[in-house]
Amino acid sequence: MAIAPAAQDIDVKYTQCFINGEWVDAASGKTFDTINPSTGEPICGVAEGQEEDINRAVAAARKAFDNSAWSRMSGAERGNLMYKLADLIEANIEELARLESLDNGKPYKDSRYVDIPLTIACYRYYAGWADKNHGKTIPINGPFFCYTRHEPVGVCAQIIPWNFPMLMQAWKWGPALAMGNSIILKPAEQTPLTALYVTQLAAEAGYPEGVINVVPGFGPGAGAPLAAHHDVDKVAFTGSTEVGHKIMETAAKTNLKRVTLELGGKSPNIVFADADMDAAVEGAFFALFFNQGQCCCAGSRLMVEQSIHSEFVDRLVKKAEERVVGDPFSDKTEQGPQVSEEQFDRVMGYIESGKKEGAEMRCGGTRVGERGYFISPTVFDNVKDDMTIAQEEIFGPVMSVMPFKDINEAVERSNRTTYGLAAAVWTKDIQKALKISNGVRAGTVWVNCYDVFDAAAPFGGFKRSGIGRELGEYALQNYTEVKTVTMKM
Ligand code: ADP
Repeated sequence: MAIAPAAQDIDVKYTQCFINGEWVDAASGKTFDTINPSTGEPICGVAEGQEEDINRAVAAARKAFDNSAWSRMSGAERGNLMYKLADLIEANIEELARLESLDNGKPYKDSRYVDIPLTIACYRYYAGWADKNHGKTIPINGPFFCYTRHEPVGVCAQIIPWNFPMLMQAWKWGPALAMGNSIILKPAEQTPLTALYVTQLAAEAGYPEGVINVVPGFGPGAGAPLAAHHDVDKVAFTGSTEVGHKIMETAAKTNLKRVTLELGGKSPNIVFADADMDAAVEGAFFALFFNQGQCCCAGSRLMVEQSIHSEFVDRLVKKAEERVVGDPFSDKTEQGPQVSEEQFDRVMGYIESGKKEGAEMRCGGTRVGERGYFISPTVFDNVKDDMTIAQEEIFGPVMSVMPFKDINEAVERSNRTTYGLAAAVWTKDIQKALKISNGVRAGTVWVNCYDVFDAAAPFGGFKRSGIGRELGEYALQNYTEVKTVTMKM
């Protein structure tokens, strides 16, 4: 593993909007600061896109969608462009990893060795699909020849969050571009820098002008007009459930654009007494604390069978106390800062509510250092199902442990939430693993593992965790319309 570089070595190159194949300032000339969460200081100004920029980007995306350079391009050629993009990301991986960690705060080694390799794998996976998602010939009654075509949806708005900036961009761009759509991406205001860098790489790969447009800016200023635009055919959103509601409402009130949503979670992680204890402790810890706890699928309701509960919590607390929190660019660092002051304050608010409502705080709960948004890994024990920290998504390094008696109780309590994104179970008993996997209402269930992601495996939520699936073959459906053609013979 390479020695992590110093943050100050990073030179930010791309900070404007990318519209119709060109880097341009926002129409208003406005910029906003993107903040380094390790210090609380600005990194640089970035173009603040607003409605006028969105309108121009949508017009460019429409023109590109109708233009033969894109609409007549074969699937194999679209695949080749995406392979090129993946190669260019790989060739620039060190710089991208630095930029990601600078803007987001995640440890450099996570950017470099986890997020970006998954990003590259995602583009390569969808490059392979570009010429393989085709229609069927259907033997209908009568003298007719009937077949289906899988056509692109059209102009797609994509609004992404800040927790995995490059990966979320890849989850959105991969299937959309492979299927021949054109795009307007709005990266999160906290972390626009890598999205803009990857945009430059896409231009170098040779995507025709207007196929990819990127407008940085804020949710209400840039995201809302994008979701409302009448010439956008589809909106894909990843973020909070609260904003997910707004996106869907806006789509309903405007042009019934297609909507896919990947929203919050409060995922149960269920540990039985018969589990491999070392693996379960490691896995439960990782499930919550990875990425500073900023994962929509974080195992944030840790349910531990009563007979092992006390020992299990002791081991978690020991790990939490040993965790190295600090500079994302240090090789020793395991946990960086929360992404922003707003998130820091939110998480600290949840810690206060846990204490007030009577959960037992076993460790953490404090700010680390004097600047930046660092929080010590926090473990609450004996959390009750109706406490705020057991119900609401915290999105920070705060673990809630709740003991349980038997498997029926585990299934029933794991479903006591309005979310349904993910779940996990730790056991050596296949019957228990199956009963939990079948009984839990969630889009993903991990058995004796956690956060295992692969571009080929679909991901998404039941209930208020979202609509639709990303990744895998399933995601192609979000970016295609089926056309039935019937011809008299
Ligand atoms: P978080 O609270 O974790 O920042 P959000 O759901 O607010 O999550 O943000 C996720 C993405 O949605 C970001 O790109 C943000 O700018 C965007 N966003 C926020 N509010 C709106 C809105 N009203 N309409 C469209 N996009 C929005």
